[in-house]
Amino acid sequence: MEQDKVPHVVILPLPLSGHVKPMLSLAELLCDAGFLIITFVNSDYNHDRLERVMDIQAFYNRSPGFRFVSISDGLPLDQPRLGPIILQLFFNTRTVSKPLFREILISLRQSTERSPPTCIIADGLMCFAIDVAEELGVPIITFPTHGSHGMWTIMHTSNLIEEGEVPFQEESDMDKPITSIPGMESLLRRRDLPGNCRLEVENPLIKFIISEASAMKRASTLILNTFEELEAPIIARLGSFFDKVYAIGPLHALLKTRIKDSSQPVSSFGSLRKEDSSCMEWLNSQPLKSVIYVSFGSVVELSRDQLIEFWHCLVNSRKPFLWVVRPDLIEGNEELGQISEEIEQGTKERGYMVSWAPQEEVLAHPSVGGFLTHSGWNSTLESIFEGVPMICWPQAADQQVNGRCVSELWRVGFDMKDTCDRFIIEKMVRNLMEDKSEEIMRSTNEIARMARGSVKENGSSHCNLERLIEDLRLMSL
Ligand code: UDP
Repeated sequence: MEQDKVPHVVILPLPLSGHVKPMLSLAELLCDAGFLIITFVNSDYNHDRLERVMDIQAFYNRSPGFRFVSISDGLPLDQPRLGPIILQLFFNTRTVSKPLFREILISLRQSTERSPPTCIIADGLMCFAIDVAEELGVPIITFPTHGSHGMWTIMHTSNLIEEGEVPFQEESDMDKPITSIPGMESLLRRRDLPGNCRLEVENPLIKFIISEASAMKRASTLILNTFEELEAPIIARLGSFFDKVYAIGPLHALLKTRIKDSSQPVSSFGSLRKEDSSCMEWLNSQPLKSVIYVSFGSVVELSRDQLIEFWHCLVNSRKPFLWVVRPDLIEGNEELGQISEEIEQGTKERGYMVSWAPQEEVLAHPSVGGFLTHSGWNSTLESIFEGVPMICWPQAADQQVNGRCVSELWRVGFDMKDTCDRFIIEKMVRNLMEDKSEEIMRSTNEIARMARGSVKENGSSHCNLERLIEDLRLMSL
């Protein structure tokens, strides 16, 4: 292959770890194809954190076609990317990251060391990249890292407003069914819409989401971190907006099945925090399917009161629990303060807490029987793949839609949406861990079987990835 014909893919995630991780999995899968070169554009903040948890030079030695570059996201490096600051981060992508990304593309084009970029794969919330791609004449693929149902709902935000289904404020409105999202008429209630639909329509976040969802359609190709067997009808509907759609998830699992050597995938560091693996030993000492694993992902914050409600419920349920309590989990850095003796004792007897867990491994552990989750898309897919039923406590973005799909569509768990009461949570934990309706276990096992099939050779996601790689090769000719 001539030097200037080597396919060179530039990958641009939204600079939040839940987006970086699947993008890194994709980058590694493409690099593993052997003939593609990859430039992965991190934010300075995330790159700094990545360097702290992984040996990047060792990774380059194994994957010579892979390079990271990093650009500013416009926020101070010592400012945690949590809470209201995330809105600022969204806007900064357009004002700060866009010109920097453009400069990077231009310098990659002029580089004599690597062939020029032949394709950009950008996060569905980084649509400024489409402007840059169009200006510089580089093909672009959009990769919203949400599930298809979440994505389809987000794409209908303006319809929801036009049809008067958003905004809604009254508690009495919350259970009214949503009718203006084609293909999802009997699924969602107002309380199942993405968190931003609870805001005033003039809110800058709603405006940002609407404009990103509309700009995304200017890309001709769509990548989805899902598998056809899970979301086929909505994937088909998304397909009406794009020439090509590649459903290649669950990416973390596809990567594990395809990676040829035994080295740890770089994307396993993509959650950008140091894992405490001591919990694996603790899990080894617990009975089969007895443990409820609790994690609210990387950005959800809890008030102190909410944390105490969860803690009471976990202790009172009398089930062994493994709980990820990030140092920044309580909003506004509020002190935990005094906790009751009952909680302290129950935790000593049956609980284990870590600041960050090796979640994929945890969910794959035979002692884990349930997952209390905030319903982030990565967590949802990881749980589905391992056949672990869920209790959903969705908070923001697409999480509300994911929770509804888990409970009503796929029937692989319960959705406790909009409640945080120790008695209700305890009842759900007991239901999930003790009674586990036959229906939930049947569908959890069946969907896990389909997920595993999709990443095997000749499985749907496996074949779709092959088609994507071929498409990327053709783009460089
Ligand atoms: N995760 C992890 N350890 C933890 C908690 C989460 O490795 O203790 C990973 C998890 O496996 C998932 C990601 O962090 O891949 C969280 O992504 P998700 O989309 O679920 O939520 P977000 O953090 O974006 O809200």
